[in-house]
Amino acid sequence: VPKSQIPTPRSEAVRARFQRQRVRDTAPELALRRELYRRGLRYRVDVPLLGARRGRADILFTSARVVVMVDGCFWHRCPDHGLAPRENGDWWREKLDRNVERDRRTDAELAQLGWKVVRVWEHEPPHVAADFIAALVQSGPATSDGRSCCSR
Ligand SMILES: [Zn+2]
Repeated sequence: VPKSQIPTPRSEAVRARFQRQRVRDTAPELALRRELYRRGLRYRVDVPLLGARRGRADILFTSARVVVMVDGCFWHRCPDHGLAPRENGDWWREKLDRNVERDRRTDAELAQLGWKVVRVWEHEPPHVAADFIAALVQSGPATSDGRSCCSR
């Protein structure tokens, strides 16, 4: 989409979403990190990922080779809450579709680099996601599809 066609977000809600994109330390991330920490897990946050298209990992377990992405329902098109805004609907649908395609490419690239990728929706209960991640981290190098936490 040429830049000139990018609509200016008019509503406050859309503007707020725009501003929240790519922000670290979101509430769902903090809640998940708290749950992980309570389980005795230690991790790095907001880590640059060399070799992967997506710039950064939200939560990283280096020795277990587990990378966790906390996906916002809006930007990553959660099936329950990922509706494109009605205003400028086509533009949003294309943009959000591209986000999802990029996510899948990133997953594939990380998997090729030997990482287990866990994606957590922001709406998912943090203790459920933390249990899943803890099991994965503690399972060592055994194979896991690592693709889905909880409802995905
Ligand atoms: Zn959702």
